[in-house]
Amino acid sequence: MKKRYNSASAYIKNKFAQRVQKVAVDAGFSCPNRDGYKGRGGCTYCNNDTFKPFYTSSQKSITEQVNEGITFFSKKYKAIKFLAYFQAFSNTYAPLSHLKKMYSEALSHPQVIGLVVSTRPDCIDEEKLDYLQKLAEKYYIVIEYGIESTNNKTLNNINRLHTFEEAKKIINLTAKRNITTGAHFIIGLPNETKIDILNHAKEISKLPINLLKLHQLQIIKGTKMSQEYSENPEDFNLFGSEEYIDLMVDFLELLNPKIMIERFTSESPKNMLIAPNWGGIKNYEIVHKIEKKLKERNTFQGVKFQF
Ligand code: SF4
Repeated sequence: MKKRYNSASAYIKNKFAQRVQKVAVDAGFSCPNRDGYKGRGGCTYCNNDTFKPFYTSSQKSITEQVNEGITFFSKKYKAIKFLAYFQAFSNTYAPLSHLKKMYSEALSHPQVIGLVVSTRPDCIDEEKLDYLQKLAEKYYIVIEYGIESTNNKTLNNINRLHTFEEAKKIINLTAKRNITTGAHFIIGLPNETKIDILNHAKEISKLPINLLKLHQLQIIKGTKMSQEYSENPEDFNLFGSEEYIDLMVDFLELLNPKIMIERFTSESPKNMLIAPNWGGIKNYEIVHKIEKKLKERNTFQGVKFQF
């Protein structure tokens, strides 16, 4: 049955006619917001350990990590192809010659059909984009930008050290090159109201992006934000799961129907999560609930989108 929102997984299944699985690699990149080039300490919510699969390590080669990831997923699924997911830190933050080496090693693996490169909007330039454009003629290439908010005041508060305008500029330069362009946003950042969040949907809708990843704000142990949360909990509006599901439906109604949704939520390891506590509900269960809610409300992605 056709979904009431534009699902990235349905698109992938259709495009490749088989299951395509991302296999994460840690290529040892750093981040300008941590190494002192732009700042130190990083974004206030960041702890890269929350999303590092066990088989990734910058101590291992790209090939070793891809092989271990493939072995892991091959036990779960049959007949699949893989995308090497350069996930940890900022994966375009190095000279082009180094990027070429890392990406080529991943693409030389016979089961890898493309790359997903996660990065910051201020860590890439036209030369790197030109190279990725060339790769995109032969492989499936996605650049996934961490944007997080359309509100510069929020970006400043969470110490992103880039603006929404910088993000818009690089997204336009990427999309112009026909590279699949993704964006990542966090829903419920400190001091953002429901109106601010729904405004993100309107602003995102104006961007030439193909893929959108959303997730609820999670307060993670050891982050600067965990300290802020314990000192000023009133600055945080952490959604309960049911409230979040309703909000996602409102968000989808405003969102450009061309934009594919890759995720709605994230599940950080229990031992690292301070709040919110959603009682262990799985990501796929939230997706089912969002689908159910869309049906109950007889609504779709984009019904309130203004062309
Ligand atoms: S969230 Fe990304 S940009 Fe921010 S500190 Fe962490 S790795 Fe760097």
